[in-house]
Amino acid sequence: MLSLGIDIGSLSTDVVLMNDKREIVASEVIATGASSKKAAEKAFQKVLEVTGLSERDIDYVVATGYGRIRVPFAREVVTEITCHAKGAHYFFPRVRTVIDIGGQDSKVIKVDPNGNVIDFVMNDKCAAGTGRFLEVMARTLEIELEEMGPLSLQGADKLSISSLCTVFAESEVVSLIGADHKREDICRALHIAIAKRIAAQARRVGVEEQVVMSGGVAKNVGMVRELEKLLSTRLRMAPDPQIVGAVGAALIGLEGAGKVSPQVIQVKLPVEEKPGEEITVGTGLKPAPTLEESSLPKMGYLCTYTPIEVIRAAGFHPVREKKAKKAEGLAEEHLCTNICPYIKAAMEEKLSGSLEGLEGIVFMNSCDGMRRLYDAWRRLDGDKKFNYILDLPKTNDAAAVNYFSLLIRNFKERLEKCYNRKITQEELHKSIVLYNKVREKVKLFLQKQWSGYLSHSGYEIFSLMKRGINAVPEKFHDYISHLLKEDKTASNEAKSLPRLLIWGGILENEEIIKTIEEAGARVVADDLCSGSRFYDAVVEVQDDPFMALAARYLKKSPCSRMVNVFDRIHRILSIIEKHSIHGAIYHTLKFCDHSLYDYPIFKKEFEKKNIPLLHLTCDYTPSAHGQIRTRVEAFLEQLQNVKW
Ligand code: SF4
Ligand code: SF4
Repeated sequence: MLSLGIDIGSLSTDVVLMNDKREIVASEVIATGASSKKAAEKAFQKVLEVTGLSERDIDYVVATGYGRIRVPFAREVVTEITCHAKGAHYFFPRVRTVIDIGGQDSKVIKVDPNGNVIDFVMNDKCAAGTGRFLEVMARTLEIELEEMGPLSLQGADKLSISSLCTVFAESEVVSLIGADHKREDICRALHIAIAKRIAAQARRVGVEEQVVMSGGVAKNVGMVRELEKLLSTRLRMAPDPQIVGAVGAALIGLEGAGKVSPQVIQVKLPVEEKPGEEITVGTGLKPAPTLEESSLPKMGYLCTYTPIEVIRAAGFHPVREKKAKKAEGLAEEHLCTNICPYIKAAMEEKLSGSLEGLEGIVFMNSCDGMRRLYDAWRRLDGDKKFNYILDLPKTNDAAAVNYFSLLIRNFKERLEKCYNRKITQEELHKSIVLYNKVREKVKLFLQKQWSGYLSHSGYEIFSLMKRGINAVPEKFHDYISHLLKEDKTASNEAKSLPRLLIWGGILENEEIIKTIEEAGARVVADDLCSGSRFYDAVVEVQDDPFMALAARYLKKSPCSRMVNVFDRIHRILSIIEKHSIHGAIYHTLKFCDHSLYDYPIFKKEFEKKNIPLLHLTCDYTPSAHGQIRTRVEAFLEQLQNVKW
């Protein structure tokens, strides 16, 4: 039996042919070039040439690496995270930590005694600290890439590179060359900077002996030296560290080949290169496009702590501004670069003129970024529009509820003054009852779905919850009532998939949930402020509507801007227990300090309870890029080794 592992990276395509005695029969490394598919075909043909075999002799092909979905003749597709873990275990059975620095990304993988992934971290989608980064720096220094490592060994540790952004680092290197610093010293500084970043990544998963380094950068002696120093450990390397991922893929192929009928491999299939199949998940739930159409003027808001009942009582339709958008750079004229992408997207929306139809906008003092957004907004608008900021306590004790009730009352009075109208107790009461009705209905609907009497996908449920936020409440209530009449239990196939929870702050991009489900899991619950958390808890009607509103908003399921992290942990763990969750995904936006600070605390708690956890940090763009897909797929592969 022969199994072929093929690892398509951004710089090189590596192929390993393995027999059923787990011996490497042949291996090849070629440059990937512009087409992953062509590189895969070429590398395969090369292996056939050197072994004198034909396509028919190969029993099973497993593709991995960033171009893995572009190998039409692959029987199985597995992420490089799982493959590097398996490959490293093949060469070093006592491995517990794998550091893989490839052309496009760097990863640190924690493995169990059988070579299964327990945890991993991956660099962001920029090239900092990867083979591509070194390639650009070699070009700037006018030396060959292979010379970088040996040159850095000769350099002194006296310079530093402050940025690992490829563009900024390149200009730093140009300045150092201009200042007549020795190339050896510059090289050393570059290696130290990258090693520091990788070491920090490694500490996040916890470095355990033995540590194996794989990927093309493992051949760089300078990088190995700096990493060994920083991690105070010896790095082990396979004879050719570049083929470790392909070895792992070939090993998975041997396991797979034993379970299926032989495959006839045709390398040159007449398949068009396309960005992955469109897979339909769920029932195709499509709410009417008119759900958001209201006869009332619109008032915008940005945070789900905003008491929308007051806005509606004042005669406006509250609309949460949340369009997922890639930053065009317009916002940076008014806000700093390192600000949360949600805030940037809101500013971009404003500057592009698409918020002109709003009567005004209500801000919450939810974080410093939001405060600064309000300042910038007012500078732009002058007093032309109703721009209002509400303070928000960070606790929910009696004093906080009392304080917040006074703020909500002030907000109502400000609306009255600005629009020269009285908001009566009755109007406020009606609005509270209306939103309560929606929340009650949604609760019933979600209970029905969770109990298995409805069969919508997690993607559909999240998209629906998200749409409901800006829907006219009466229409959304009726639509949910209509859905509640359905009865369709989930298929057995769906029931056998791993059950996931996704939680965090704002997730606007439902494609992420689609990606998770297309990878083979079910998102059965969310706790996101742009999802079902919006509907959590009703307002307990009482004589003082402001106290009632304040209590609801401060006591509903909290987001990370509230101080009591243990309350959050407790709530999330009870969701996990209630829905028999197999793994959880924590979603944060870049630069959102609140949610990023929560992560290490959650991670510790989850480790204690053996709950698999994946952290996804995203940038508020409307697509789910390749790295998110890889992380999700690797997480699901990791779940296959967890008994539930
Ligand atoms: S994450 Fe919290 S603070 Fe941020 S918008 Fe959502 S509810 Fe508001
Ligand atoms: S996601 Fe975080 S940083 Fe962004 S607005 Fe919300 S709390 Fe502020």
